[in-house]
Amino acid sequence: MPAQPKPVAALIDALSQLPGIGPKTASRLTFYLLRVPEERARALSEAIGQLRERIVTCPICFNITEEIPCAVCSDGGRDRSLLCVVEEPLDVMAIERSGGYQGLYHVLGGAISPVDGIGPEDLKIEELVGRLRDGEVKEVILATNPNLEGEATAMYLQRLIGSDGPRVTRIAHGLPVGGDLEYADQVTLVRALEGRRDM
Ligand code: ZN
Repeated sequence: MPAQPKPVAALIDALSQLPGIGPKTASRLTFYLLRVPEERARALSEAIGQLRERIVTCPICFNITEEIPCAVCSDGGRDRSLLCVVEEPLDVMAIERSGGYQGLYHVLGGAISPVDGIGPEDLKIEELVGRLRDGEVKEVILATNPNLEGEATAMYLQRLIGSDGPRVTRIAHGLPVGGDLEYADQVTLVRALEGRRDM
């Protein structure tokens, strides 16, 4: 097989490193982009560039945002006594889409997983404890994923916050076990939030 032009090989290589995309799909996408009108290919390239240029992490809740602080943290209409703890920014998006929650968020950046070498110090846990200090938060809703790591993280946080801190609740089951919050449908998410229980 003759060598591919360098830009073609480079894009195939870059795309095949994305999750869920093998070398075959990467080739197909690359040749597709060679055929579409140039402005469409450019729009994609610009969107990727802007993603890293304009998206930052909110220093309060650690969700992704274009402004600092993020739209949720700076929204005076949100219920500041409620703090929902999630693993990833995608979970915030899922809960926001459900429309059933008016409090604030805290994004941990993952879950405790000894197998993967992820301990509490690798997550935004210290920052979470810091947010609870002034007593404004009355309830912490642990909305980590309903899998082994998510449950372990919830247990850890419940112990850490302890009985002196705010009320600690866990979202209700009914979410598919082992599934991710981000894939739950809106009705299931609203039910899981409404059915939360004290830990
Ligand atoms: Zn924020």
